[in-house]
Amino acid sequence: MPFVITDPCIGTKDSACVDVCPVDCIHPRKDEPEFATSSMLYIHPDECIDCGACVPACPVAAIYDSPDSTPASQKALIEANAVYRVGDASAVEKAEALVQAHMSSRADLMAVAPTERAAAHAR
Ligand code: SF4
Repeated sequence: MPFVITDPCIGTKDSACVDVCPVDCIHPRKDEPEFATSSMLYIHPDECIDCGACVPACPVAAIYDSPDSTPASQKALIEANAVYRVGDASAVEKAEALVQAHMSSRADLMAVAPTERAAAHAR
């Protein structure tokens, strides 16, 4: 079961997770052209080896350890992680559209500071 990045990453894009991931499955990296325009980072579900290294590295607790453990409020972002492919403009566009839809439908969560947002997921 792959790990999933959720909405505290939107606008945060800290990238500490990228630095610790042993299989380079979190994108976009800061050296990839999509970094500037992507709303958040995404985990490639087929490449993630479930090591868990990214979770403690994330300063905003954005990463859940499986789709099943991802809170209901974040379910749309499971698909965003799954479709995003760096270097594929169409895939990037689809993932970003899912993120924009999430932001619109969960304005309540987006109003919470990123560092506090994971705690709000459980409410
Ligand atoms: Fe990378 Fe491990 Fe996190 Fe998967 S669980 S995204 S392999 S650091």
